[in-house]
Amino acid sequence: MSKSVTNVVVLGSTGSVGRSTLEVIAASEGRLKVVGLSAHARLDLLVEQARQCGARWITATDPAAAAARDWSDLPPGCSLSIGAEGTAALVEQKEVDAVVAAIVGSAGLSSTWAALSAGKRVALANKETLVMAGPLVMELARTTGATILPVDSEHSAVFQAMQAGRRDQVRRVVLTASGGPLRHRALEDLADVTVEEALAHPTWDMGPKITVDSATMMNKALEIIEARWLFDLEPDQISVTIHPQSIVHSLVEFVDGSVIAQLSPPDMRLPIQLALEWPERRPGIAERMAWDQALELTFEPPDLVRFDALQLGMDAARHGGTTGAVLNAANEAAVGGFLAGRMGFDEIVPACRAVLEHHNFDPRPTLDQLLTLDRWAREEVLRWVCA
Ligand code: MG
Repeated sequence: MSKSVTNVVVLGSTGSVGRSTLEVIAASEGRLKVVGLSAHARLDLLVEQARQCGARWITATDPAAAAARDWSDLPPGCSLSIGAEGTAALVEQKEVDAVVAAIVGSAGLSSTWAALSAGKRVALANKETLVMAGPLVMELARTTGATILPVDSEHSAVFQAMQAGRRDQVRRVVLTASGGPLRHRALEDLADVTVEEALAHPTWDMGPKITVDSATMMNKALEIIEARWLFDLEPDQISVTIHPQSIVHSLVEFVDGSVIAQLSPPDMRLPIQLALEWPERRPGIAERMAWDQALELTFEPPDLVRFDALQLGMDAARHGGTTGAVLNAANEAAVGGFLAGRMGFDEIVPACRAVLEHHNFDPRPTLDQLLTLDRWAREEVLRWVCA
């Protein structure tokens, strides 16, 4: 991007990553400019954000919520569109240079797909897009010339560390995981974990779905699959280490044995800024390391009995095809069931495994097939909840 101002659309602007993105853009001294925003449920906040950053277009992705609202407070010069078609039209606008894909879950796939189809730079916070349809998504980006830059902190770290060598010199990547809030909880007590306990993340302040995923370690399972497709790695080139301080965001080991890591305090504003400004590095508002204080960084291998979700992630990365989409959808439904009080914390991963084992595997699915399986897997989990 050679021109001086980058026009940005933020999809999912009222969520955790969306709000951090608006802070990064506001602090960019005019280099980054919001032109469009989208949100699902928090529509009052969406309008307020549009007013503050002067957005020209906003999309309310939930038609029912949009219809229930009086839009007379829309700022002048700002136009509204509704539903998935609205989001697609928003990201395709000629003036749009970059799209921050921060919609949580599989709902983010269609808008990310539209942005990639239009050849935009996509700052990808929605890992589900790659988990569900990695090979198709990467192929689409290659075809249209779109760029995908990871916002997920681990993948941003891998992307940065990979700059230290050639791609064919990478031996493996090591994704770090905090271990979440339940790392020390006795295995037999996991059935009693409350929503409140699962949402009390020790190092990262994130949305509810990803925080529960962090507690089950499903987040890391999904990130293994994400890394597989994003960096074109073989599954056995990806490993995981537990790093409770969340300072080292991931590591890349090169063939000569040298390991390059990326360090920074846990603050999403850094990977967001990098994804929007790369290849530039600019002074930013993300927290900085305090090197005048003692710092202890620890690493330990994950306990695969406690964190059996990791094995599901490894298996899905190995098998590819339909497994990522099924695992992701089953997990979204199960986490929804847990957050709604209809499912035990210790049932989330077994439900995912059961649905995976019962699905009709296809090694080379189409996008339509994946979307159909996404719906099927959710229904299967609902049957589990009701059983
Ligand atoms: Mg992450």
